[in-house]
Amino acid sequence: MINEQVTKLKGVGEKTAQQLHALNIYTIEDLLFYFPSRYNIYEMKPLQNFNHGDQVIVVGKVVYPPSLTFFRKRQSRLSFTIAVENIAIRAVIFNRAFAKKHIMPGEIMTLTGKWDARRLQVTVHTYKKGYPAKQSNIQPIYPLNKHMTNNRLKTLIKKAFEQYGQNIEELFPERYLTAYKLPYRYDALKTMHQPENKIALKHARRRFTYEELLIFQLKIQTLRRQKRESMPGYSHQYAADQVNKFINHLPFSLTKAQREALKEILFDMKSPYQMNRLLQGDVGSGKTAVAAICLYAAVTAGKQGAFMVPTEILAEQHYHSLKALFKGFANIVLLTGSITGNQRKEILAAISNEEADIVIGTHALIQDNVDFSNLGFVIVDEQHRFGVRQRRALRQKGLHPDVLFMTATPIPRTLAITSFGDMDISVIDEMPEGRKDIKTYWVKANTFQRVLRFIEKRIQKGEQAYIISPLIEESDQLDIQNAVNLYTELKQFYNDDIKIGLLHGRLRAEEKENVMKQFADNNIHILVSTTVVEVGVNVPNATVMVIYDAERFGLAQLHQLRGRVGRGDKQSYCILIADPKTDVGKERMHIMRQTNNGFKLAEEDLKLRGPGDFFGKKQSGLPEFKVADLVADYRALEIARKDAIEIVKNNLLATDKSFYRLGKRLKEDHSLMETFD
Ligand code: ADP
Ligand code: MG
Repeated sequence: MINEQVTKLKGVGEKTAQQLHALNIYTIEDLLFYFPSRYNIYEMKPLQNFNHGDQVIVVGKVVYPPSLTFFRKRQSRLSFTIAVENIAIRAVIFNRAFAKKHIMPGEIMTLTGKWDARRLQVTVHTYKKGYPAKQSNIQPIYPLNKHMTNNRLKTLIKKAFEQYGQNIEELFPERYLTAYKLPYRYDALKTMHQPENKIALKHARRRFTYEELLIFQLKIQTLRRQKRESMPGYSHQYAADQVNKFINHLPFSLTKAQREALKEILFDMKSPYQMNRLLQGDVGSGKTAVAAICLYAAVTAGKQGAFMVPTEILAEQHYHSLKALFKGFANIVLLTGSITGNQRKEILAAISNEEADIVIGTHALIQDNVDFSNLGFVIVDEQHRFGVRQRRALRQKGLHPDVLFMTATPIPRTLAITSFGDMDISVIDEMPEGRKDIKTYWVKANTFQRVLRFIEKRIQKGEQAYIISPLIEESDQLDIQNAVNLYTELKQFYNDDIKIGLLHGRLRAEEKENVMKQFADNNIHILVSTTVVEVGVNVPNATVMVIYDAERFGLAQLHQLRGRVGRGDKQSYCILIADPKTDVGKERMHIMRQTNNGFKLAEEDLKLRGPGDFFGKKQSGLPEFKVADLVADYRALEIARKDAIEIVKNNLLATDKSFYRLGKRLKEDHSLMETFD
């Protein structure tokens, strides 16, 4: 059995076992599946084609007997001359004094090693008598610690393979192997440790990449299914004809992406389980329009809908635009913390006696004294501001509405399906037609005066601008000082009819709201701000976004900031002020200029930063894979996900014999299940 302790292996005692434990190898299976972190590939070629530093195969006749020297403590150097294509070159073997007796003058030897062109010397990795069997030699290099050498581990794995290799079971049904052209598990494992050639190695890696991702996705999908079935919800029997009528009365026709997302959400609403779905899409991609249609669908099913947003300003903005949209269709009310007295009482009454079909508000909506009698559907805008606690609050009121989260922060799909694995995801990845792309420029700090003149021209045309002030890392205090300084500087630069506002984290909530309101009403023309500019705030008349120290921001954040403009029908501009010192910083500026698509940007950002770093901190709950790479193998991830959904949906692990081993394997493996609690 391969799940036995390594000490079961012949010749492996307590001491070796200890050393293996230090590498997290406990069972024979652990040992067999301890994969190399990389490979040295030695290639056969004529001596004249050797380049300095190449990994090469050298074949020749030993000319002189080797000489052995010792240096420092227990270090040795064995060197000999070997004639290759009639040229004498030097071969050096370190710390293998015993090799002396294997190397005889007159013998043909095949060496692999690293070529030193200056000394005409090869530093030997492996040596063997006779001619080589193959044109290339691939040597696995294992991740090690100081207690274990590569060769020793290689030998141990070989031994394990000889004794237990026949116990390696195939996990996949035959048809998967055929469809994806994957090697059998046994063959692939053998290849990982002793690759015959590069192509075989590629396929072996492909196999284990898919295996890891499929198992990972099967766990997620199983968990999701369990979770879903443990959360009964309303089956919204919405009136399709009325919903269509509502859609047709909109002043535009839906984009393909909007229709697709709508279909997915409506399907969930109809199902008897509680919806837990995330709707992603750039600012202006039409999420709110989709949300409105779904709210209306809930109303036609005889339920109430709620729309929760992070701030009061946003609640008001949404209320005004949705009120117009729902005219003649549904009764909509606004409830925020600043609505008080009799007015509040009336609204609360309307909510509890179901006069109100749809309620818009901040999280005040789920406070104790708000008594929904028939809440069936909730939309939560900017998902990250709305936590588990609020969801629990809803449940404690005995409500289990379908919940749709919306976010304008695009998350690359690979990360979305791994880290939000227990949520369903819909994506709106196209903009409505005729939308003008925001023009993005990258300038150096010394052109600031020109930037200010440019802003002045836009203001003369009646438009407005944001300026994000310079950033000092780790210092809120200095950031605010910078914003204040910039504000003063601008006041001196412009004459008095250009009004300037200031926004930063130290202001009280009312002060902030007041400044924002002035800006929204065009009483302020330029808004100087630290990065606290409220998410989702909509001032369509603002057409210029200037971002200081742009190189300090990640692409996702830059894109978020850029999304504050381009909301009206006028041409908008984003000006990045940056003097990036690093290549990554420069690359970011280039990417920002090249694309306005948030999803593309997020993918690029992921490539630049790596998966662990994407969410801003190293530990983000992302799983660790041995072979798979979330960035490079995203297509395999998509396929594995699709297959896993299919398998779980049809319950194949339990009912289809060809999945028996895979099912067994999953049952034995308990890792990762904690990730999504
Ligand atoms: P989001 O919520 O994703 O930021 P909205 O739904 O608020 O986007 O839409 C932004 C603007 O685009 C709104 O003025 C809306 O009326 C309009 N809009 C939405 N969908 C479409 C569409 N399919 N075609 C044209 N305009 C649309
Ligand atoms: Mg919106």
